[in-house]
Amino acid sequence: MICLGIEATAHTFGIGICDDKGKVLANERSIYKPKAGWGIIPMDAGKHHEEAKHSVLSAALEKANLKIEDIGLIAYSRGPGLPPCLHKGAELAKELAEKHSVPLVPVNHCIAHIEIGRLTCGFENPVVVYVSGGNTQIISFAEGKYRVFGECMDIGVGNALDKFGREVGLDFPQAPKIEQLAKNGKWTELPYVVKGMDLSFSGIVTECIRKHQKGEPLEDICYSMQEVFFSMLTEVTERALAHLGKDQVLLTGGVAANMRLQEMLNKMCEERNARFKVVPREFAGDNGAMISWTGILANKPGQKIKPEDAGIDPRWRTDDVEISWLKN
Ligand code: AMP
Ligand code: MG
Repeated sequence: MICLGIEATAHTFGIGICDDKGKVLANERSIYKPKAGWGIIPMDAGKHHEEAKHSVLSAALEKANLKIEDIGLIAYSRGPGLPPCLHKGAELAKELAEKHSVPLVPVNHCIAHIEIGRLTCGFENPVVVYVSGGNTQIISFAEGKYRVFGECMDIGVGNALDKFGREVGLDFPQAPKIEQLAKNGKWTELPYVVKGMDLSFSGIVTECIRKHQKGEPLEDICYSMQEVFFSMLTEVTERALAHLGKDQVLLTGGVAANMRLQEMLNKMCEERNARFKVVPREFAGDNGAMISWTGILANKPGQKIKPEDAGIDPRWRTDDVEISWLKN
């Protein structure tokens, strides 16, 4: 069985193709880039996806050396995400499923980040640190669902980094540039906001902007913002590990690329005798392969929908999904 997966929740329009053994045959994408000084404008991102979809589809089939007739299953990201983007993915999924009479599976984008991480890192039952632009969650499987043990109460950590970067004139994506600037910075006092197991980033961003306006060195603010954000994440992850008695930590999502975050989580895991792995770079940010692989997992126990039911769910929560492919 070969599955074609369509990712279109935010900036990335991606198409991935996997077989049912978890071999990734193609993982092509086109990324919308906002104009200078702006964040993602949802309608513009949707327009980008509309324009990109056919060329990304052709590139993926060509890469996999397959024809559309070879595809036995179509999966698409039903949510969470930006509605104008989600619509483009759902439309294409519906069109292909109808035209080629192929079964269709809707996939939760956050769960796809977890599953591609489990596949590529070989972890059975990790605590997952899922950090991306829009989402920040500490997740683990328990009793039929991926449970959220901690999450951001306002904006995602990637978005928080990007937002500060934008305010100080850096180009999108700003977070990798902040990582570079942070290397030459030193500590300046910032708030630290963990409430129970949940995290808040946006007030810290406001304080960072204030410090920048007061003329504090940009490098120092970048360094301190990373130290605070990633310490908060590490604290909550450690508590989840301790409570659940698990011994694997998987870092996934676009912010997983950050070396300082990796270093902090790795150190915490070493001290607790837990194993730590990071999803490979190619699969860290949004991509079609993760949708394809999750589609295969979901379809094995028989999950599928009719093309006319190919809707979107912009606020679909990770812990709303029944995970039929994992045993308790
Ligand atoms: P995703 O939404 O999973 O595609 O992830 C995109 C997010 O990852 C954006 O907010 C990026 O700024 C962020 N990101 C990419 N590279 C890095 C990095 N090196 N450090 C921190 N965040 C990053
Ligand atoms: Mg994502």
